[in-house]
Amino acid sequence: MARIVMKFGGTSMAGTERIRRVAQLVKRQAERGDEVAVVVSAMAGDTDRLVNFCREANALYDPAEYDVVVAAGEQITAGLLAITLQALGCEARSWLGWQMPIHTDNAHAKARVGSIDSQELLASMQAGNIAVIPGFQGLTDDNRITTLGRGGSDTSAVAVAAAVKADRCDIYTDVDGVYTTDPRIVARARKLKAVTYEEMLELASVGSKVLQTRSVGLAMKEGVRIQVLSSFVDDSAPDADSIPGTMIVTDAELENSQVERQLITGIAHDKNEAKITLTRVPDRPGA
Ligand code: ASP
Ligand code: MG
Repeated sequence: MARIVMKFGGTSMAGTERIRRVAQLVKRQAERGDEVAVVVSAMAGDTDRLVNFCREANALYDPAEYDVVVAAGEQITAGLLAITLQALGCEARSWLGWQMPIHTDNAHAKARVGSIDSQELLASMQAGNIAVIPGFQGLTDDNRITTLGRGGSDTSAVAVAAAVKADRCDIYTDVDGVYTTDPRIVARARKLKAVTYEEMLELASVGSKVLQTRSVGLAMKEGVRIQVLSSFVDDSAPDADSIPGTMIVTDAELENSQVERQLITGIAHDKNEAKITLTRVPDRPGA
């Protein structure tokens, strides 16, 4: 028996059909006798839609109220997944950010997770109830809703995994792992069996969209074992415990598992950067 946190991104949660697929993957994990918590994103596109509503309402919106609006996307998918799991005969319930609660600072729209009160959650998981947790959201000390910044559900998943001391945090997405570079651009890109936290941190911070940068930093600090894998698989696919995706591991672990290490792990790119060269600037301090 293991304790597993499963996280599903926006494309995995986009619509009731996809959510049913997610529920089947969760059920399969729970049927192994594991204690399972699931962290979910909003349906793909929904958070953008909610952000736009705020902008339309007032370009100078109050960030605290923005958080109330954008946190709603994850509340919907969490409830829907719990309902779908119940339809498959599983015991499941949702745990909203304020219900646990997941404590954060009060930096609205980019809050940082402080601590998570996980005793009740853990007791429920141990009793065989699947916990469904909306990602991205938390609560300040004065009981205001916060969100963790775009892509923040990854950080929620890692924070929950650290709080319940999970054996593994499986991050399900629409690609089957971390590649040497973007496979949509470079046909020869290869899937990596493992990358180190430091390498993943670098890849994420220079444009790889697989994981939110902060989630990798938190996982490194808390020693959370992460696997990146695809939810777009059928029943014949190998199960998550056989590690079909990419593991994010410590330097020492990677050293032990590979005879010969790559000098360069991967190449990331970012289209939102430009280079400007100024010429004929006098080469002296202050210029
Ligand atoms: N729904 C949020 C976003 O789109 C958080 C997440 O999906 O990780 O940024
Ligand atoms: Mg994401």
